[in-house]
Amino acid sequence: MKKVLLHICCGVCALASLKRLKKEGFYVEGFFYNPNIQPFTEYLKRKETALAVHNLNKINMIEGAYNLKQWLDICRKYKDEKEGGLRCRRCYELRLKETAKVCKEKEFDYFTTTLSISPYKRSEAIIEIGEILGKKKFLAVDFKKQEGFKETISLAKKHQFYRQNYCGCIYSKSKLKAKDRK
Ligand code: SF4
Repeated sequence: MKKVLLHICCGVCALASLKRLKKEGFYVEGFFYNPNIQPFTEYLKRKETALAVHNLNKINMIEGAYNLKQWLDICRKYKDEKEGGLRCRRCYELRLKETAKVCKEKEFDYFTTTLSISPYKRSEAIIEIGEILGKKKFLAVDFKKQEGFKETISLAKKHQFYRQNYCGCIYSKSKLKAKDRK
């Protein structure tokens, strides 16, 4: 059985992504690495939900470092970019680079990310970055296809998991509209 390290952006996005990979016959472990999430209390809340999703699926979750300073050093200069622009590209790169590193260290066959499940994120950019970083080690899955987002939200509602209403960084939080996104 091939081993996949799945980067987890949050528990909700992990629900349908994990289901799909398991259905396709992969052995999966999650990698919660998100130094973009602010404030830290929100990080803890999302980590707790991610852990609950892993427990539900009886799989292991590896937690990466919360290196917020590194994230700010890379992304702060793009603070005025719209969501989906250059700041997000750098943010995807940082998280996928670390996932590729852990994939190699822990001898997984492949890595991929739940990031592509969100309709607010550009799957083409995520897949392009993954392929540059991981070459054949990157599993190019667009989780939003096959109604992935709809399914993940429905599973989150069923299990009553916490659903955040902004992407993660302070810049996305400050642009939050009254209407919930998820
Ligand atoms: S909006 Fe989301 S993907 Fe973009 S930089 Fe902020 S946390 Fe990262």
